[in-house]
Amino acid sequence: MTDLNKEHYEVTIMGSGPAGLTAAIYAARADLDPVVFEGPEPGGQLTTTTDVENFPGFSEGIMGPDLMDECREQAKRFGTEVHMKLIEDADLSERPFDITLDDGTEFPTETLIVASGARARLLGLEGESRLMGHGVSTCATCDGYFFQDDEVAVVGGGDSAMEEALHLSKFASKVTIIHRRDELRASKILSDRAFDNPKIEFLWSHEVVGVNGTKEEGVDHLEVINNKTDEVRDFPCDGLFIAIGHIPNTEIFEGQLEMDDNGYIETKPDCSKTAVPGVFATGDVQDYVYRQAITAAGTGCKGAMDAESFLQAQND
Ligand code: NAP
Repeated sequence: MTDLNKEHYEVTIMGSGPAGLTAAIYAARADLDPVVFEGPEPGGQLTTTTDVENFPGFSEGIMGPDLMDECREQAKRFGTEVHMKLIEDADLSERPFDITLDDGTEFPTETLIVASGARARLLGLEGESRLMGHGVSTCATCDGYFFQDDEVAVVGGGDSAMEEALHLSKFASKVTIIHRRDELRASKILSDRAFDNPKIEFLWSHEVVGVNGTKEEGVDHLEVINNKTDEVRDFPCDGLFIAIGHIPNTEIFEGQLEMDDNGYIETKPDCSKTAVPGVFATGDVQDYVYRQAITAAGTGCKGAMDAESFLQAQND
């Protein structure tokens, strides 16, 4: 069981990326003694990236994990309680809400700030799941180093795919970006960097339909289909990186909070309020457009301020 400091919380925060930790900093400075449950990826998606060059305040850039370590320390400095645990269930039918952790610990909270982010979307192929961590990866920053002088493939045509490919080009001898269309979705700056990189090649209008290899030896080859001609062929490579977008981590709120068709939580205009009073959604769980660390941090701030106003109104 988790050793909690309190029996009853005013503010519980689910997730520890820029949204969750910013919410924690604001809630802690408002003397609300927040508790943060870090979730399966402490620090969130920034911990799987290297240089963050677009977060204001760091003219030379900062490493993603370092930025999140700083945020966590800043939140703790003002009294935030942080646990490396998962919230497994949340009963939002009445207040205080009943929160259950993955070890069975249960406790009540007056407000809940959802900042559980999003996770990598997968292709759904048998070989992809079988070889995940054995040649298949969703994180070049985490696993790129293991592919020294290898030939690897990246699936996707967005900014993530370009970033993954650029990072992999530091280690691999060749990186092929396999994209299902013949034009990229990625921003011009990242696309141009990929086009200009001599190690990066493009396989346009192709989809990966098979991933072959063994856990012992890793990936041996892919099967790819040209979706213009329907021709299927083998594509030899040593590693496959999936970079085709994300899925919001909102499953435990299905049927409890209003969501769109893709599972993103609906918030009321210009604030973090959800359909359930006392529950606030921040960061990538409610934003599929901007999805930046700085925008997530901004909504985390809103979440804490909205929770504070909500609690104040309850006490008036
Ligand atoms: P994304 O922009 O949604 O791109 C996903 C890519 O994967 C698209 O090219 C899409 O193809 C492809 N795709 C989706 N499902 C697929 C499937 N089943 N099979 C094959 N291909 C599939 O996702 P993202 O690249 O993760 O970026 C998400 C957001 O974060 C974007 O707003 C992006 O700008 C931002 N971002 C920014 C940076 C940066 O600025 N440094 C870095 C990373 C991400 P189609 O194009 O055909 O739809």
